[in-house]
Amino acid sequence: MTETHRTKMLILGSGPAGLSAAIYGARAGLEPIVVQGLQPGGQLTITTDVENYPGYRDVVQGPWLMEEMQAQADKVGTRTMFDTIVDVDISQRPFRMTGDGGTVYEGDTLVIATGAQAKWLGVEGEQELGGKGVSACATCDGFFYRGKKVVVIGGGNTAVEEALYMTNHSDDVTLIHRRDSLRSEKILQDRLFANPKITVLWNKTVEKFVGGGDPVGLVGVDLVDTQTGDKSHLATDGAFVAIGHAPATEIFKDHLDLIDGGYIEVEPGTPKTKIPGLFACGDVMDHVYRQAVTAAGTGCMAALDAERFLAEEEFELLAAE
Ligand code: FAD
Ligand code: NAP
Repeated sequence: MTETHRTKMLILGSGPAGLSAAIYGARAGLEPIVVQGLQPGGQLTITTDVENYPGYRDVVQGPWLMEEMQAQADKVGTRTMFDTIVDVDISQRPFRMTGDGGTVYEGDTLVIATGAQAKWLGVEGEQELGGKGVSACATCDGFFYRGKKVVVIGGGNTAVEEALYMTNHSDDVTLIHRRDSLRSEKILQDRLFANPKITVLWNKTVEKFVGGGDPVGLVGVDLVDTQTGDKSHLATDGAFVAIGHAPATEIFKDHLDLIDGGYIEVEPGTPKTKIPGLFACGDVMDHVYRQAVTAAGTGCMAALDAERFLAEEEFELLAAE
């Protein structure tokens, strides 16, 4: 028989946005349910040092920070489900979500906090050599490249952090970027340029990940110069693709307005969607800031708005009696 769970506030996602919404929702007596998804704790669980989340004078570790956030949410009364939503019905309330094992979750309000996932280049060899030299997470896989030659592709904060992180394992790190300037924060750029283990290759894109050896693994990348069109080859043992993330909105694409390549559209300055009682927070609706603290902030806003929405609805029902 299908199991059904009902709550006043259903939250999809257990990153900083979802867990902050849960903490506020639980403390407001909404008895929230958080459906964790495939990445409990969200993106910060695949990084190491976090030094810009307020409240900690020393650097903290991403996985630890998310464990603490989860524990805080649990402590104030959140029900957490290890499940992933695969089907949605937001045509009426309660909103009805179905997990991949068939479990149904019903929410009087719904907070979507499904975040974002790594983007891939989509070039030859990338998929085939995934896990055999090509990765999207240096902090997860970097250890395997101890003493080896690696490249990191991208020019944002993630790419620069991954390149810096890889110098813990390798003395030969090359950052490959398609333009002649980085978009990452200046403080990170300063660290990158000061690090003698890192070389930057400007104006280059990867055309192909080249495999070889037995067992087959990455042996190099074929490059194209974005200015001249010149082709070149760079031998490498590992390649980390760090070109950004795509919002996890596939399950909502036929049901909600999506903008800017898949982000959920909200009323500016709020987490409110066009559907009453349905809110979106964190990276899934924010293509500009995409930080843990902004995700947590908009998670808080979503919970406060959900609480107000339910209170107003109750008031109107009482007034109508
Ligand atoms: P996410 O953290 O992406 O969490 C999304 C959640 O939704 C996950 O739990 C996932 O399992 C769940 N989910 C997805 N689909 C479903 C589904 N169908 N059903 C149920 N659940 C689902 N920011 C900083 O402020 N400081 C940093 O130092 C920093 N370092 C970073 C390092 C890296 C390598 C990366 C990738 C990002 C970093 N960021 C940093 C950005 C920060 O991690 C994100 O802004 C933040 O995690 C976004 O939080 P979120 O809750 O919106 O989404
Ligand atoms: P991002 O800021 O979107 O940067 C993506 C980078 O990849 C850009 O330099 C982009 O090049 C490049 N790129 C994109 N598509 C490409 C392609 N097809 N081929 C080659 N290069 C490509 O993504 P991000 O670095 O993952 O950061 C995402 C968000 O998380 C940001 O808001 C960031 O601030 C945040 N974050 C914060 C921290 C921190 O605070 N310490 C750490 C990590 C991430 P162009 O520059 O040419 O567009």
